[in-house]
Amino acid sequence: MKITIHRGINQIGGCITEVATENTRIFIDLGQNLPDNEGVSNDELASEESIKNLTKDLDAIFYTHYHGDHLDLFHFVPNIIPQYIGQVAKQVVIEKYKRLSFIQNDKERFESYRDQVENMISLREGKSVQVKDIKVTPYFVSHSAYESFMFLIEAENKRILHTGDFRDHGYLGNGLRKILNKIVIEGAVDMLIIEGTMLSRQGERVKTENELQKDVISIMNQYKNVFVLCSSTDMERLATFYAANKKVHNRPFVCDNYQKNILKIFSKSAGTKTPLFRFDSVYDFRENNKKLHDWMQDKGFCMLVRPTEKFSKYYNSLREQLKDEDTVLIYSMWGMYIQAKSKYAKENYLRFVNQFPNIEKLHTSGHASVECLSDVCKIVNPTKGIVPIHGEDKNDYYSLDIPEALKERIVTSSIINL
Ligand SMILES: [Zn+2]
Ligand SMILES: [Zn+2]
Repeated sequence: MKITIHRGINQIGGCITEVATENTRIFIDLGQNLPDNEGVSNDELASEESIKNLTKDLDAIFYTHYHGDHLDLFHFVPNIIPQYIGQVAKQVVIEKYKRLSFIQNDKERFESYRDQVENMISLREGKSVQVKDIKVTPYFVSHSAYESFMFLIEAENKRILHTGDFRDHGYLGNGLRKILNKIVIEGAVDMLIIEGTMLSRQGERVKTENELQKDVISIMNQYKNVFVLCSSTDMERLATFYAANKKVHNRPFVCDNYQKNILKIFSKSAGTKTPLFRFDSVYDFRENNKKLHDWMQDKGFCMLVRPTEKFSKYYNSLREQLKDEDTVLIYSMWGMYIQAKSKYAKENYLRFVNQFPNIEKLHTSGHASVECLSDVCKIVNPTKGIVPIHGEDKNDYYSLDIPEALKERIVTSSIINL
């Protein structure tokens, strides 16, 4: 068996991993490089020609989750190649492209993306897919995208575990060790392909979503009018704000209809398993909805926003009735996007955020802490190798607190024969 890390060996974002036997070739993820601060992704693979070459004779592509650095080159893939993604993840991506197709000048492009996603095959947790002599089984992981999978890949009597992006400090993170133990009891894992985002961000303290929820409650007690800028598709973070808002004064939870549709998808899937993900009283904001306006003015509110013209307009329409000292924007994404001097700073984010009289930053990473990464290496204890991906420097893995014998198995080359 041969593993090729086409992309992701020395960068955060932009992941493509190939697993091949004599007869079969599959990809895990087909991610685009993350965009720079002007929103431009420098990506030599982002063309039909390049992807056609790269995916020649490929038997299937499996996506761990819907973040662009794992999924976004999908629309260059020839129709003949089957593409697999989680069944809920698929609905979320379809909703996103439905939304984007409202943008007048790019309507056709986004409609064709949507059609391509509709043609993807849905994966279900624990249900294996056989692609010729390679068997792939998706297992659920907690990440800032719902639903995210790690993949167990079995062929030629070898077992490879590809973690995708994951963490253990989200609401859904406590299943991680249980699943890993189950996989290891069934048989030894030969190769562990594992993300390492947090190794270069060790200064960031990793709070749990539960701790974050407590911080949100205390901000909500301080401010009556709460705007929230967080990812529209990060179910666990959305649940943090929804739950906090419910616990404070049951103020209206407001968003736009796109966000409401996403919350509906989450309620219908994860929400059937736990009330934490049941977003059942959400109001969609309309400038002419006087009843909602009056309620918001009277009780205060929690409103999900995005850094766009539309939400700036919404904010300005409310501004006159909001006292500055009662109004806050909670910024709940990676801090670097609004760090003016950072190479990751985003112009539109900075402009949007600076309109608000008060800003509170509250965030915790979607990626595994350094302790969690060590733990996963120790539990899986792969017999042949650990392949770090999704990290700025593959050599950072040597700094993990793992036994010497495991450190010796760290593989830093991008082509591995197994
Ligand atoms: Zn990623
Ligand atoms: Zn991700």
